[in-house]
Amino acid sequence: MIRYKIEIDRTGCIACGVCYSLNPSHFEPDEEGKSTVVGGETDAKASSGVFEDEEIENARDAEDSCPVSIITVTEL
Ligand code: SF4
Repeated sequence: MIRYKIEIDRTGCIACGVCYSLNPSHFEPDEEGKSTVVGGETDAKASSGVFEDEEIENARDAEDSCPVSIITVTEL
């Protein structure tokens, strides 16, 4: 098991949909299409959540694919 944190700087999200299309188990859209972390804590500026599973590579794929580089995945 790997414990890791996903953070999104929602102020820069352009609602492109790449992260939640690639990885709907970690990311989902709000009503405006801006990304949030599934099961995480979200406000207008940020969203974050901690996971403990074998799926960190999927999270990193989304991190690498975000066109405005506002997703951060950190192993804890
Ligand atoms: S890939 Fe980046 S810009 Fe696109 S919806 Fe996800 S967080 Fe927002």
